[in-house]
Amino acid sequence: MACAQLWRLIAKPLRVRIVIACLRAPSAEAARIHKLADPALADCFGEMLTAAALLTAHTKGGVRQVLQLDGDDDAPIARMLAEARQGRVRGYVRRGRRKTPLQGEGLARWMRLPATLSVVRDLGFGHPYVSAVEADSPFLADAVARYLWQSVQVRADVRMAGSVGVLLEAMPQAPEDGWRKALGVLAGIPDAALRKALSAKDVLAWLAPLAPELLAEESWRYACDCSPERVAAGLATLSAEELRNLAVDDVVEVVCEYCGKIHRVPI
Ligand SMILES: [Zn+2]
Repeated sequence: MACAQLWRLIAKPLRVRIVIACLRAPSAEAARIHKLADPALADCFGEMLTAAALLTAHTKGGVRQVLQLDGDDDAPIARMLAEARQGRVRGYVRRGRRKTPLQGEGLARWMRLPATLSVVRDLGFGHPYVSAVEADSPFLADAVARYLWQSVQVRADVRMAGSVGVLLEAMPQAPEDGWRKALGVLAGIPDAALRKALSAKDVLAWLAPLAPELLAEESWRYACDCSPERVAAGLATLSAEELRNLAVDDVVEVVCEYCGKIHRVPI
């Protein structure tokens, strides 16, 4: 069975928090829903979903974490969006005009770089925090790490390979030498090992030098909470004339971007 796990750990003496995500099952479901036939593209989108899930780990409670990557329309992919909260992840891919991949590796094959990574942290009250950083590397992990340094101002690092990812975060007063050790251990995980990992446990084996303690195990899935009521609420922002133009036999058909479900709303 494909993995759908997120583990939270702590390396107590080093004062370093660790999050491991292994989201093969939700990523495969996303690739199916969004018809991402090319495995390399499915991997890229899997990284978006994984990054969103990893970022939920340094916030508490009913937080919604959105990652949005915007590039140019003259590419196979113009936008990728991933949203994660409490064990559920969903997202969508907006295609660009170009049908064939670009030159380059990773993200650069699918999107024009630099792209913009926008991160929304919704703490569940009032205005969500929104920050944007430039994504100029073909590796999404670089942009996510930049976001963490620049916007959240925590010492953190991220490794990702497809739907497997690891996030390290130094807690306040973490000693500098311990933090450097943690970074060294993270950097020492071979890319191929991350790519092959079938469970959070497989990844954890590489972090053994940090003697991490497991705090929590979560099970994650691809899930969308769209409903006819939500779609109707969205349509309420349109004028009567706009609704009439969209409707066929007094019914507006809306396809959910996240899950492909078709909602038929009478007007
Ligand atoms: Zn949906």
